[in-house]
Amino acid sequence: MFLNFVVCYFQEPFQIKHGVCTKICRLDCHQLVRTIKPLSLERRREYIEEAAPNVASQKKLLDKLANNPCEGNAWHADHIVPVYRGGGECKLENMRTLCVACHSKVTATQRL
Ligand SMILES: [Zn+2]
Repeated sequence: MFLNFVVCYFQEPFQIKHGVCTKICRLDCHQLVRTIKPLSLERRREYIEEAAPNVASQKKLLDKLANNPCEGNAWHADHIVPVYRGGGECKLENMRTLCVACHSKVTATQRL
């Protein structure tokens, strides 16, 4: 019990802060947000299309991120085991960083 608490408390925020997608795309979402923030809306779109084609291919996600480049619009902390299947506990093994594109794909699959 105590060990779980320590792992959760100290390692999870570090991993989540990292902001790199753990799926195959390996998108560095944190870096992406930092890079596009100072750019104009048009340049942001161009940059996302180049650096994150996965995100750019979903217009809704592209618009959201280009209009408001913040961490929450670039990546999410995802429960590997969905909450409704008992994965809601705060455990490092059950958390991963996903870019918004991979997250929407995973969520769509889990709903099937
Ligand atoms: Zn991804």
